[in-house]
Amino acid sequence: MQKIVIATKNPGKVREMAAALSALPVEVVSLAEFGQLPDAVEDGKTFAENARIKAAFYRQQTGCACIADDSGLEIEVLGGAPGIHSARFAGFHADDATNNAKMVEELQRLGVSESAADYRCAIAFVGLDGMELAADGRCDGQIKLAPKGENGFGYDPYFYPQEYPGRTMAELTLEEKQRISHRGKALKALSRELEARLK
Ligand code: IMP
Repeated sequence: MQKIVIATKNPGKVREMAAALSALPVEVVSLAEFGQLPDAVEDGKTFAENARIKAAFYRQQTGCACIADDSGLEIEVLGGAPGIHSARFAGFHADDATNNAKMVEELQRLGVSESAADYRCAIAFVGLDGMELAADGRCDGQIKLAPKGENGFGYDPYFYPQEYPGRTMAELTLEEKQRISHRGKALKALSRELEARLK
């Protein structure tokens, strides 16, 4: 059975990606099983470029087929920021708490308590033989300065997806989030492609 490495160090993403790939006839393993590996240099200008950079880099580092995502939050009143810089919005050593604090600060500075926003996700696959696949997904909603919920990760406690009025992404179960999320949609498209190639 082909081994596919989920090329991310983010445990929230590993959970979502492993769940989405579970129906495929492949052995899904996490990057953590390969010990300490260097970080890929994400110097692409788009989500798609960065996803491909990560998948190709860890394909080389692990010697296995790799799947990677690059994702982020675009907030309308911030002109689409943090976008591809979502993981480092609060600086080089940022984490979810400091990124969320920075987002709240930026919105308060503009005197707004909510804004239209969307999550974006690009997924890239690089196979053992060099075969490449790509897919992307989007999830629209609103950012509100009223955090709720314990599930998910990142900006989820502040993101109200349009499909679930009154609930944040962090109040959804993994299954509910997978159905509507940017990553869930991108993974569904990519796993359909991958399944067809594996036959
Ligand atoms: P990446 O690892 O460079 O793709 O950074 C993605 C960053 O975007 C994460 O660290 C989060 O801050 C944010 N992000 C992406 N997807 C999600 C999500 O599903 N929920 C919450 N935050 C997300």
